[in-house]
Amino acid sequence: MDILKERILKEASVINSGVLKLDSLLNHGVDPQLTMEMGKEFVARFAGKKITKVVTVESSGIPVAFATAYQLGVPLVFARRKKTLLGEPDAYCERVPSFTKGIVTDLIISRDLLSANDSVLFIDDIIANGDAARGLIKIIEQSGADLVGIGIVLEKSFQAGGNMLRELGHQVEMLVKVKSLENNTITFAD
Ligand code: 5GP
Repeated sequence: MDILKERILKEASVINSGVLKLDSLLNHGVDPQLTMEMGKEFVARFAGKKITKVVTVESSGIPVAFATAYQLGVPLVFARRKKTLLGEPDAYCERVPSFTKGIVTDLIISRDLLSANDSVLFIDDIIANGDAARGLIKIIEQSGADLVGIGIVLEKSFQAGGNMLRELGHQVEMLVKVKSLENNTITFAD
């Protein structure tokens, strides 16, 4: 998605060789027009698939997942991240490390919001090591829903998450792939 690459080059900054700051586009601010375009792009890439729900993880996945769900005309469900001490009997729950926060959180989706009747498209903002995605996929499995595909705005392809998803055998679509952040420079894979 060329427009997204242009905006990343203009607005993102390299924190270190493993972390990109993308606050104005994905992690702190939202450009509604660009976000709707990302949603349209995902809808085009998953055209023809039966999708009854879009799922994501709070908070940075929500805008683009909302844009996708809006275009598809289906509901959006976002997993909440909680630091729980108590079990949540009415929820599917998976414990995952957080890439940016350096802590472990529980991803939680209420059992009322996801069931074996659903065909689910999983949309997220960035994939690094794939921990959040792995957790969410386990939750989808627990619910019995069918995972139709996975769409991620930005893959850092020098980290392991993207390949982990592709190896699961689902349709996986990335809007942009960054192959390196070395030397303070953003290099796209293609
Ligand atoms: P993972 O679980 O794949 O290691 O990390 C995924 C989550 O961590 C993403 O949803 C994203 O919010 C956050 N994340 C991972 N890498 C980066 C990064 O380079 N920059 C920012 N801003 N967030 C990141």
